[in-house]
Amino acid sequence: SQRTLVLLKPDTVRRGLIGEVLARFEVKGLSIVAMDLRTIDAELADQHYAEHVEKAFYPPLREFVTSGPLVALVLEGDEAVEVVRALNGATDGRKAAPGTIRGDLSLSNRENLVHGSDSPESASREIKIWFPDLP
Ligand code: ATP
Repeated sequence: SQRTLVLLKPDTVRRGLIGEVLARFEVKGLSIVAMDLRTIDAELADQHYAEHVEKAFYPPLREFVTSGPLVALVLEGDEAVEVVRALNGATDGRKAAPGTIRGDLSLSNRENLVHGSDSPESASREIKIWFPDLP
């Protein structure tokens, strides 16, 4: 079994979709290993998005992810990294397939509701950032 770091970004919280989105992961069979509602500062955003900080889309993305509470989660299950990315759908909600979280619930490429680690290596790096005390 494998762990992955998932964020329900501030748009999920603002739109009242925490239950809807969390249910998608739960009914799939993933287990919740850690979960925390928090508002992050720019420093944590920069750490999390280290690979994007130099990109043109990053300043507004940093604004967005620090704009209000989000839910950080560690999910566990067989091939959890890939399974979560499949459930999330393509980055751009306008292009994401129906049936996916973004495809069903988002019409934006920035405010796309969720984050999921893109590899097992990213998952360990991100879990350490968000949940340093998780055994
Ligand atoms: P995530 O890493 O959040 O699961 P992802 O792997 O589908 O999403 P990345 O390419 O890693 O997407 O981009 C990280 C986040 O940056 C996206 O989820 C989205 O919120 C934002 N983003 C990516 N590309 C753009 C863009 N062209 N314009 C605006 N925001 C973008």
